[in-house]
Amino acid sequence: MAKRDYYEILGLSKSASQEEIKKAYRQSAIQNHPDKNPGDKAAEERFKKAAEAYEVLSDDQKRQKYDQFGHAAFENGGGGGFHGGGMSMDDIFSQFGDIFGGFGGFGGFGGFSGSGGSGRGGGITKGSNLRVKVKLNLKEVANGVEKKIKVKKYVACQTCDGSGAKNGTAKDTCGTCRGNGQVTRVTNTFLGQMQTASTCPTCHGEGTTISQKCESCYGEGIVKEEEVIKINIPAGVAEGMQVKLTGKGNAARRGGVNGDLLVIIHEEEHPDLTRDGSDLIYSLYLSVPQATLGATVEIPTVEGKAKIKIEQGTQPGRILRLRGKGVPEVNGYGRGDLLVQINVWIPKTLDKEEKKIFEKMEHSDSFTPRPDKSENGFFNRVKNFFE
Ligand SMILES: [Zn+2]
Ligand SMILES: [Zn+2]
Repeated sequence: MAKRDYYEILGLSKSASQEEIKKAYRQSAIQNHPDKNPGDKAAEERFKKAAEAYEVLSDDQKRQKYDQFGHAAFENGGGGGFHGGGMSMDDIFSQFGDIFGGFGGFGGFGGFSGSGGSGRGGGITKGSNLRVKVKLNLKEVANGVEKKIKVKKYVACQTCDGSGAKNGTAKDTCGTCRGNGQVTRVTNTFLGQMQTASTCPTCHGEGTTISQKCESCYGEGIVKEEEVIKINIPAGVAEGMQVKLTGKGNAARRGGVNGDLLVIIHEEEHPDLTRDGSDLIYSLYLSVPQATLGATVEIPTVEGKAKIKIEQGTQPGRILRLRGKGVPEVNGYGRGDLLVQINVWIPKTLDKEEKKIFEKMEHSDSFTPRPDKSENGFFNRVKNFFE
């Protein structure tokens, strides 16, 4: 497929100024920003193409080469450090991230530091991330669960549609920076004149100002509200894991990109079952008669009580493996097992009658220990312990 012309990608004429190039790129990047278009491959592709075009056109040397030779100028490494269209999203953010204004959100109502410093290029801001903790019991961990949680967060102001401007009042180009979002200052130093650029103090890098502020949000474009958010937690998560919901965090002031919601998993301990990765462990105590004669006993499982059959002559230390009765792997198809560790409870006191019985058996042939290696084998295969 023939590569599209860089000017065409950004909707520019060949004579576009650096200012126009920057503006066009910013517009395209904001429109196709992955946070605004989650899962949209076409938008991501446009976002990448625009970055590629911007990388060339924003650099006078590269632009000159491109004007002269077209795309051929950058083939076979001719671009000198140019990514040849193979830029990853990370590349784009690390190189041109500042075009969006600083990321990282704001610090509290009223004290909107906004763009976290640089704000260069006068861009849109990103709302801050929200963090919430969600408590899950073992059953919820094993099956996955939909949780509804209430969060207080910044949302776009409905009165002004997030613009911060009073109904009907348009945004004006900032007079201080003439829309650049940046002011340059010339200072005289012993090395001569030096130009320094900094974020415009009037518009905080946005490039626009509002003459009449929206009264609902005091011109911030966002208000704090309580929202109920549904979170689908996949089966198999573990303590401390994070589930990220893109775009569900705080809204940014005046129409930026929403922050993310980070859900941190807190796993409640089960009273009887201990988790070991995707396996569960239960320590079962049998009485001497149960272990000797065999029995049907009740054990806890994720789903509630279950009955298992204990064969006669079951030795302590044996582990019964109940396949598939554990917890699913969080990113796979497998499911762990429930391991039942067999212990035998030896009585500490006996009444006369019981004592007699045991004394009778003391020298009995059947009670003479005859350990067999296979008896202590780990993880004996289980046919079907459930009744
Ligand atoms: Zn408003
Ligand atoms: Zn300004």
